[in-house]
Amino acid sequence: MRAQPKASHFIDGEFVEDAAGRVIESIYPATGEVIARLHAATPAIVEKAIAAAKRAQPEWAAMSPTARGRILKRAAEIMRERNRELSELETLDTGKPIQETIVADPTSGADSFEFFGGIAAAALNGEYIPLGQDFAYTKRVPLGVCVGIGAWNYPQQIACWKGAPALVAGNAMVFKPSENTPLGALKIAEILIEAGLPKGLYNVIQGDRSTGPLLVNHPDVAKVSLTGSVPTGRKVYEAAAAGLRHVTMELGGKSPLIVFDDADLESAIGGAMLGNFYSTGQVCSNGTRVFVQKKIKESFLKRLKERTEAIVIGDPMDEATQLGPMVSKDQRAKVFSYIEKGKAEGARLLTGGGIPNHVSGEGTYIQPTVFADVTDEMTIAREEIFGPVMCVLDFDDEAEVVARANATEFGLSAGVFTADLTRAHRVVDQLEAGTLWINTYNLCPVEIPFGGSKQSGFGRENSVAALNHYTELKTVYVGMGRVEAPY
Ligand code: NAD
Repeated sequence: MRAQPKASHFIDGEFVEDAAGRVIESIYPATGEVIARLHAATPAIVEKAIAAAKRAQPEWAAMSPTARGRILKRAAEIMRERNRELSELETLDTGKPIQETIVADPTSGADSFEFFGGIAAAALNGEYIPLGQDFAYTKRVPLGVCVGIGAWNYPQQIACWKGAPALVAGNAMVFKPSENTPLGALKIAEILIEAGLPKGLYNVIQGDRSTGPLLVNHPDVAKVSLTGSVPTGRKVYEAAAAGLRHVTMELGGKSPLIVFDDADLESAIGGAMLGNFYSTGQVCSNGTRVFVQKKIKESFLKRLKERTEAIVIGDPMDEATQLGPMVSKDQRAKVFSYIEKGKAEGARLLTGGGIPNHVSGEGTYIQPTVFADVTDEMTIAREEIFGPVMCVLDFDDEAEVVARANATEFGLSAGVFTADLTRAHRVVDQLEAGTLWINTYNLCPVEIPFGGSKQSGFGRENSVAALNHYTELKTVYVGMGRVEAPY
């Protein structure tokens, strides 16, 4: 098996196996080949990982932020040196084309280590509060043992986006990748050790939806950060609430992307395609409801169809390939069921909808698909599909489109394409979402906060803001005079 790791779990600086755990087969989505066979964590493995994290954390927290940051920056360098190897592994894990993984996966993980390593020395300061002769000060203190639970669309990125702020703030982490993509996080854990991270601070254990609760309910866990779907978010939030644990929820979306008739057409089409087809549509912040103003609807659709049909689908390891398979058979079957619903409910299939002709065998390929004449009440316009399916809706005016864009339980992202600067800002002001773009889409550099509102979650990843979610404030009041008691 060409991607078999030394063992399933990485705990206390070492690979660890417990063959009593359920078998997890790692499948390369482009061929159906089994590339690794791992075991889900048993309760004993979960205990071992949390115990290692708990033991290692106090000493790590006692180090200066600068010293912690230095280790993370070294990890970023190693990731960049091994970008090709890590990108190939990410492609095997997910099926995403190497053209993407080489620029968007380990590199964005490395950005995260570099950014948080770099700001450590300045961003964890407290405040001095003058109170007359008395004063107070605040300290930002780590939470302790943090659990990270990942989705399968960006396994290495998610492992780093959660790990970097948690570690730099002085916490320890136990990370559980998705059962669909178990491999990348193990490499991140190894690289952190190589960079000098003390043992026990970044542990990876494998498992599925039955393993997650063992972590979330553990009494020694202070915080849970989940990237996953809204239904999973509800369960994890509920379980964490029972122990009053801190949570960050990075959940799903059905984000609106609004194209006004004065927009640069090619640019807006490019944004809509990136925001629906990148990573074979498996991106939480995708702008899957594309609202196009009526005047430009037909010209938008004509060019969109041409450009979509020119997308290069094929072997993910070929650098010319632009669209790879979906992560799994189950996920593709789910997407096909939505395509059928779209047709049955009267949407117009503009292009796609099936399996590409030239790919065969066990690969979980699917054509990039566009539906036109989609209306707000159709299932494909309301539910997250999480595949390469774009819904194009049309609209007359600004007030109408803002109201329709907001008529959803989700609130992850939104985008606006227009040449009118004041309109762009007026519209984003009214859109209910956590991360918004004007005249571009889906760019998430580490410098900017990323996260959702409404049912799409809360808490933020990336930027200085993420540190607030991995620390709590300790306030110290200092009395400088005598205590005058009335009794
Ligand atoms: P999922 O919700 O099925 O699983 C996510 C993770 O949670 C997996 O590791 C899974 O094993 C674990 N899990 C499932 N049930 C659990 C439970 N009861 N307790 C603890 N852990 C549990 O999601 P998925 O199918 O892996 O990923 C796709 C979803 O993730 C989409 O909805 C997508 O929008 C969302 N997502 C969100 C973001 C974001 O940043 N907002 C990023 C990527 C993906």
